[in-house]
Amino acid sequence: MAKQFFIPRGTSDILPSEIPFWQALENTARTICRLYGYQEIRTPIFEETELFARSMGQTSDVVQKQMLRVLAGPRDFQETLQNSEDSLAGVLRPEGTAAIVRSYIENDFDKRESLSKLFYMGAMFRGERPQKGRLRQFHQIGVEAIGPSSSSPYLDADVIALSVNLLKACGLTNFKLKINTLGTLENKKAFYELLKRKLQPQLTELCEDCQQRFERNVLRILDCKNEKCRTIVRQTSFGRDWLTQDSQNYFNAVKQALDMLNIVFEDDPYLVRGLDYYTHTVFEISDSSLGSQDALGAGGRYNNLVSELGGPQVDAVGFALGMERILLAQQGKNKPCDSFIDVFIIAMDAQYTKNAFLLLQEVRRCNLSADMSYQAGSLKSQMRLANKLSARFVMILGEDEIKNQEVTLKNMQNGMQEKIALNSIREKLDKLKIER
Ligand code: AMP
Repeated sequence: MAKQFFIPRGTSDILPSEIPFWQALENTARTICRLYGYQEIRTPIFEETELFARSMGQTSDVVQKQMLRVLAGPRDFQETLQNSEDSLAGVLRPEGTAAIVRSYIENDFDKRESLSKLFYMGAMFRGERPQKGRLRQFHQIGVEAIGPSSSSPYLDADVIALSVNLLKACGLTNFKLKINTLGTLENKKAFYELLKRKLQPQLTELCEDCQQRFERNVLRILDCKNEKCRTIVRQTSFGRDWLTQDSQNYFNAVKQALDMLNIVFEDDPYLVRGLDYYTHTVFEISDSSLGSQDALGAGGRYNNLVSELGGPQVDAVGFALGMERILLAQQGKNKPCDSFIDVFIIAMDAQYTKNAFLLLQEVRRCNLSADMSYQAGSLKSQMRLANKLSARFVMILGEDEIKNQEVTLKNMQNGMQEKIALNSIREKLDKLKIER
């Protein structure tokens, strides 16, 4: 027997029955992003490895443990796999920001506009241990506002408001927004030193990962999910004295702008983001109904990333939301689309299949979606098919209809039936289009 193949672990097929939910989410995201003045950008699914190592930070979990490599080369495939130094093309993108910044620099966006507002949607890849809400291939919606004139607390607040309003437009109400500030790069350095001083006495009580984080990037200890580490962290007070007055003012202005927009948030001084590139505002949105993987999305300001990746010194702010998580949180609450097809055509006998096939083309020419059973069957079995496709109307062609040059049109919503002369079918179909 031929070998059966299974889907790779941590990935999922998005089946036709789920597609309406995805499309509704994509449409909502496009509408809201455009409302806020963002234009779509699409970048490749794989990029140079170093792009992510440099932007996300060598010590980040994603770069250390979760990058999925792409191998390519002229040799035999098996050989290429064994010989890793051979033509290592890059990694599957684990996130969108670095790729968008790469494109921003490469396409000289800064020379064309003082603020580039870009959004994206697409698959991301991380070699994580799969569980509910955590996949190896997942999808994100994200926005990035980059450019010389992006340095304004109003923009931080606008970006946060966009993410909140997108989730609200998806019907979500139970999520929680947390914000914090990390200040400038210099402020962050002062914060690292303070953290080290404060956490040193309990170093041996921290988990093994955190003991390494202490050396490599102490900020990440605040991100640790280990209960003991969390308790130690929460019992330690860091204050915000390590922030300069300017940074403190900036953060206050972001909070005031959010208040102005009636965006409810929690100011959480323990919130940090696992990636190196963040400066100033960071935020995270979570929904407790999601269980252990409760993050819906996150973002913040990254004022040094563009220059660190070889571009001009311009500021930026953005976020990414997990699409699978949004759909999980919706739990099919709002069924987006109930009618899949406008017209289903039924031939009452195999000899009328040809007439039905021609009628099918005529309906489609009128810009109405149409389908039929290509093999004639009983009226009952064909009606069942029409119901399965949630057809709005059914057109029936039987002996009488063919003889009288007409078709029976049945409205599937109210059950009403009428006969339509074939020579006036176009007029009728145009009316159906208007009623849609
Ligand atoms: P991050 O860049 O890790 O902050 O991710 C932003 C958002 O993407 C998260 O809040 C999740 O909603 C989603 N996300 C991240 N990693 C995964 C994953 N492995 N599986 C599913 N969703 C994810």
